[in-house]
Order: sequence, then C-alpha cells, then structure tokens
Amino acid sequence: MSEVAVIVSERLARYGFGDGHPFGPDRLAAFVREFEARGLARRARTLEPRLASDQELRTFHSAEYLEFVRRASQNGGGFLDAGDTPAFRGVYEAAAQVVGATLTCTEAIMRGDARRAFVPIAGLHHAARERAAGFCVFNDCGVAIEQLKLQGLKRIAYVDIDAHHGDGVFYAFEEDPAVVFADLHEDGRYLYPGTGAASETGRGAAQGMKLNVPLPPGADDEVFARVWPQVLAHLTKFEPEFIMLQCGADSIEGDPITHLRLTPRSHGRAARDLAALADRLDHGRVLALGGGGYNRTNLAQAWNAVVEGLF
Ligand SMILES: [Zn+2]
Repeated sequence: MSEVAVIVSERLARYGFGDGHPFGPDRLAAFVREFEARGLARRARTLEPRLASDQELRTFHSAEYLEFVRRASQNGGGFLDAGDTPAFRGVYEAAAQVVGATLTCTEAIMRGDARRAFVPIAGLHHAARERAAGFCVFNDCGVAIEQLKLQGLKRIAYVDIDAHHGDGVFYAFEEDPAVVFADLHEDGRYLYPGTGAASETGRGAAQGMKLNVPLPPGADDEVFARVWPQVLAHLTKFEPEFIMLQCGADSIEGDPITHLRLTPRSHGRAARDLAALADRLDHGRVLALGGGGYNRTNLAQAWNAVVEGLF
C-alpha cells in the first residue's frame, strides 16, 4: 500500500488573514493549481477534513486561551498577539478546521488508510499552549502529537525545515521524551522568533532529544545538504513510530520575509528521505504540513515537491 492522502478542501482557505497579509487565503489555491498541473490530483487520494473538537484542542491549549480566541472570533477585529496575528470573525472555527485537517490525516495514517499524507494550510508551529504567535492561532502539530501520545505512541518525531524556528512545538515539548525534535531554521539572531540556538537540546527526561540547527542568512541547498544528515542520524537513533514534517516554503530563495536561499529540491529531498526512513522503520508513517511560505510560486513548487517525495 503506497497511498498518499492530501487535503485540498476549500475549507482550509478560510484560515487566512485577508488579501495583502502574507498569510492570505490565496495560498491554498496556489498549491492546488500546481498539484493539478503535475497530475498529482490523480495519483493522490484527497480527503475531506473534519473539524477538531474543543476537547481535542484542550489536549494542547489551555481552556483560558481557547475562551480568549472564542471571544475574539465572535467580535472580530484587533489582534490575537502583539500585532502579527489579526483576529477576524470566525477565526476560531477556521483555526479548528486546520487542526481538524491535520487530525484527519493523522488518523488516516494510523488506521492504515493512507501510508503518508500532506496538508497544505497547516503546520502552525508558533502557537503556544497559552497564546497565538506569528500567524498561528492553534498549533495543529502540537494537538496531533498529543493525540498520538493518547493513542499510546512513545516516540513521535517532529522535523521542521521552515525558515522560522518551531518554537511553539519546541517549548511545549522541551522536557517530553516522547517527542524527537529536529529543526533547521534561519539563525534567530536574524529572524523571528529569535529562538532555536544549537545549545537548546531538550531538558530533563528529554535532554539530548532535541536538535536545533541554526543556518546563516543566505544558506542554500549546499548548506542544507551538509546539515541534513544530522537530522536523519538524530531520528534514526530514536526510532520514531510516526514522523511529522513541517515543510515551510519560506526557506526558499525569494521569500518576502526571510533570508534563506534553498530551492524546492531540498524540500523534495527531505520528504523522500523521511519517507525512506519511515519505510525502514517498518511503518512508513509520514505526515507533512505546509507551514510558512509567502511567495506563492515558491510554496506551490516546494509543497508539490514534498508530495512527490512522499510517494
Ligand atoms: Zn516560517
């Protein structure tokens, strides 16, 4: 069974902060056009996403934070954080839809209905348990990890090649030995959120289980090829039962808000290598999540390279 599931539902486009915002609602359509042009719509299986329940959201987020977002969602207007993430009417449901899409794919993989999966509008890795941050309202990666833990998984890998450090995932699970973490990102001295130094390797029972690799501004495919084997070695050591890949396209050259210079080849390679690693571990489970990426051509190319890499 080699099936790859992908979510292309219009419902995901509701998670966007208006035309003109880097995280606009047009990102989904940019991905889907290229997905169809490459003939991937015929090769992959498309799934309809369900909504995440409040109970599921509460496994990662605090009840107080959920209430705060619910009120902001009813009123609309203002920001959910200091100024990056605007509130709009219905933002609660739109964000719960993103989490639901990630959970739909997680479940399809765990049931064996799909070997691997991709969700374009997902991988909202900056949201913390108690707050929104950096265009991220609910942390779908975090909720999915909590759900997999509830199902009894002992080792879940989270790999992140978005230009920004996955701080919302990292700090939520910094002391958690169930989460094997590996993150390549632009050095925090030059880019939001400023975290993810190489010295941040996990705490307590998870000491040594987290790998942070800051890259200098301008880092290209050659730099990626030099450091990527560290990620594979790190994961291999812990034999994860499930692999999540946040494949943000803002690490591609030409992104309007970052300074890395990868090409979609690195994203395709990441997906291919993680799929091969998952196959060697005898389960094949890889869930890729779109993450950031604000140049529409780049995200269409990078994310579709990832989907091709998952087959
Ligand atoms: Zn990013």
